[in-house]
Amino acid sequence: MTNTSERYDLVIAGQGAAGFAAALYAARYQMKSIVVGGTFGGETAIGGAIENYPGYVSIDGFDLMMQFKAQAEKYGVPIVDENVASITRSGHCSTVTTTEGQRFQAATVILAVGRERRKLGLEHEDEWTGRGVSFCSTCDAPLHKGNVVAVVGGGDSAVKGAGLLSKYAKKVYIIYRGAEFRRPEPANLRALNAAKNVEQVFNTRVVKLNGTDGLSSIVLDRPVSGSTELKVDGLFIEIGANPRKELAVELGVALNDKDEVIVDKYMRTNVHGVFAAGDLTDASGELKQTITAASQGALAATSAYADITAHPSACEIQPMESSRT
Ligand SMILES: Cc1cc2nc3c(=O)[nH]c(=O)nc-3n(C[C@H](O)[C@H](O)[C@H](O)COP(=O)(O)OP(=O)(O)OC[C@H]3O[C@@H](n4cnc5c(N)ncnc54)[C@H](O)[C@@H]3O)c2cc1C
Repeated sequence: MTNTSERYDLVIAGQGAAGFAAALYAARYQMKSIVVGGTFGGETAIGGAIENYPGYVSIDGFDLMMQFKAQAEKYGVPIVDENVASITRSGHCSTVTTTEGQRFQAATVILAVGRERRKLGLEHEDEWTGRGVSFCSTCDAPLHKGNVVAVVGGGDSAVKGAGLLSKYAKKVYIIYRGAEFRRPEPANLRALNAAKNVEQVFNTRVVKLNGTDGLSSIVLDRPVSGSTELKVDGLFIEIGANPRKELAVELGVALNDKDEVIVDKYMRTNVHGVFAAGDLTDASGELKQTITAASQGALAATSAYADITAHPSACEIQPMESSRT
């Protein structure tokens, strides 16, 4: 059990690429740091084959994140498998409270909590997740051998997902409300265009999910192949994601118009002692990838180190009312 009465130099919120990279760099600066995050590996771990992370021709995202984690653990960085529920900052100290009530105090904090997938807002969307509805083509594509599936979305995730699904499914519809795809990676678009079993449907929305104990068909707002109802075995919702901004908002951290945390080139936010990295931030624009998240985590840890070096005794231990340990 982690000793919550100890003062840390750094608490890192998030167990994704940004969080683990920050942990590695912080450990090598000999900062006393801790990683707090509910789900191992973040989006990379569920991203399927990763073929654009330098050093690996191809590696499963889960395995890549296991290596990130092992590298942080090699330096003895404790990892707490709980989400951060709140962070309060008083003077130069942050108090981080987990969903299970553990508390950690630290001079600096790195927010690396990523983004939450967007939903269509249709009835049964949550209820039938795992029963025909999926938010991760790369995770669930192999389940659809010989099936008919649809992908909703027009960005790179949707295009990449539909391309992958075409290798398993008999027929793939990719349905997008816009008139053309939105900046997909050229290689992914080429693969999609080359797939003979993919039908690209533009200017169309999915408006209803039909089924009894799971998805059996989707209803569109205009006919496709003569009908507004498409019988599908699976629907993949790949329409982007919202930054998990709650902790940043609680801390008074500034956000841009996309709700991304605004950071400077040192990954500093507008709140002293609070840094941010990865998909949560505005740092990499549209290139929200494992490599950019990892590099931002490294930068954020370096800046946190500079901060505690400049203010070595700024955060003295505050009395804590209660703690699980
Ligand atoms: C299907 C898919 C395929 C992808 N394929 C590729 C690819 O091929 N190549 C590539 O480079 N990138 C790919 N990506 C993008 C890449 O996965 C992300 O850019 C990367 O994971 C971002 O890392 P991150 O650490 O910023 O955020 P995340 O990976 O999202 O990690 C955030 C972490 O924070 C945790 N967390 C959430 N809330 C809290 C909280 N309150 N307290 C503490 N922790 C919290 C989460 O559980 C998670 O562990 C893909 C993404 C998806 C969805």
